[in-house]
Amino acid sequence: MAGNVSPKRPEMTARQLSSSSFAGTFEVARSKLSELGLKEPEDLDSDDTLAPGSPIPSTDSDESAGIYSTSESDDLPESPITPLTDPTTPVAEPDVADNFAFAFDIDGVLIRGGRPIPEAIEAMKVLNGENEFGITVPYIFLTNGGGKFETERCQDLSRQLEIDVSPGQFICGHTPMREFSARYNTVLVVGGEGEKCREVAKSYGFRDVITPGDIIKANAHIAPFRRLTSSEIESSRDLLADGGKLSDIVIEAVFVFADSRDWASDLQIILDIAQSKGGRLETRSEAFDEGPPIYFSHSDVLWSAAHEHVRLGMGALRRSVETVFEHTSGGKKLKTHAFGKPQVSTFEFATRLLQQWRAEQHGLTESRPPATVYFVGDTPESDVRGTNAMNEKSENEWYSILVKTGVYQAGTEPKYKPRKLVDTVLDAVNHGIRREMAKLGSRKSTGGRMLPLDDAALKAITEGRTPSFDLAADPFTAAFNMSKAS
Ligand SMILES: [Mg+2]
Repeated sequence: MAGNVSPKRPEMTARQLSSSSFAGTFEVARSKLSELGLKEPEDLDSDDTLAPGSPIPSTDSDESAGIYSTSESDDLPESPITPLTDPTTPVAEPDVADNFAFAFDIDGVLIRGGRPIPEAIEAMKVLNGENEFGITVPYIFLTNGGGKFETERCQDLSRQLEIDVSPGQFICGHTPMREFSARYNTVLVVGGEGEKCREVAKSYGFRDVITPGDIIKANAHIAPFRRLTSSEIESSRDLLADGGKLSDIVIEAVFVFADSRDWASDLQIILDIAQSKGGRLETRSEAFDEGPPIYFSHSDVLWSAAHEHVRLGMGALRRSVETVFEHTSGGKKLKTHAFGKPQVSTFEFATRLLQQWRAEQHGLTESRPPATVYFVGDTPESDVRGTNAMNEKSENEWYSILVKTGVYQAGTEPKYKPRKLVDTVLDAVNHGIRREMAKLGSRKSTGGRMLPLDDAALKAITEGRTPSFDLAADPFTAAFNMSKAS
């Protein structure tokens, strides 16, 4: 689906993976670490992550920021570890991490100004098996952005990140609007380039889609300073066809799909409808309380684009609509609705998508969700806030990681505090994977049943000696021994 981009993800056959296979891979990797004389990662939770709500140290020096330090030299092997490729190493293809997953915001994390953030390409390789533990980690994308078909955006992302991104692992801001197509007949769709959002809305099942351009084409006085181009006139619908009048049209709901390309006229038209009698065009409610519902695909006020400073996003238009409505309606308040992050419902949607993706792509068909989902974002107000709220509500752990490549400015205090602050998405991925490995290690040391290792064997490994444990009890090692013997 990604055009000429060749998939980098290894072909996975649908299969039921047990935790023991992943644990086995981990064990081999850890033995490998011992052979190389490298120290095993310690439990990162002990001192360098933030619990939600804990105070954040204000510092603008990465090096001095102990709690926020991205330098992991204290407790983690710094240099890349020799790939597990020598003939004595029983790793033929990466195993799938079945106990954790990643979810990524896109703008400011992976992409900025239409170009990939350099570390993003490497981060995707790490998730797809190019890591010291030889594991593949499932992941999805959850962006507030939009304005294109999901398939198109996935093609862009595939090209930019040099991987194969499927719509099955992608949610954008307007994806949940799909669910409203049966509820409303005639809707106003705002934002995006040209006719694109109308097409997306129709593909979602909306039957009668009107755009601000259609309305201006019918009555240019509605937006005194907006002149439609000839191609806009050409592509817009003729609402006056067959003797129709604008006042015959009732807008049942307004959906702002993507960022407005002309704030003045879009703001005017949304306000006109908000102040109308039940959504009927060219009417005005006396009480200003009869307007139809207004939905925004997200509410991010700022976002990270190509410019060195953050740019205004859809959330700024939303606030403008509400503020100007109040100012022009005798103080009456307008309540609009927003999808996207930080709404917990969006994260619940993501949970369902992740479950489906893990089953379809990775053969993880058990009903158990991943114990931990690492969410990597650049905007405290949407990414961190939403992840932390989901973590409060969810049975599994949602672990927020904030990067410094987008909206969040290093050295400032984020309004919503992440569990971990790192420089780039690559640091985020490495942190999550190593934290998982440390969890596995600590589980063993506390007598957990993840691996058939006794205390003596564990001690031997951590001291760099060859452990003497029952190989036959470890299915992965046993399978390897069988393959060696044949
Ligand atoms: Mg972002």
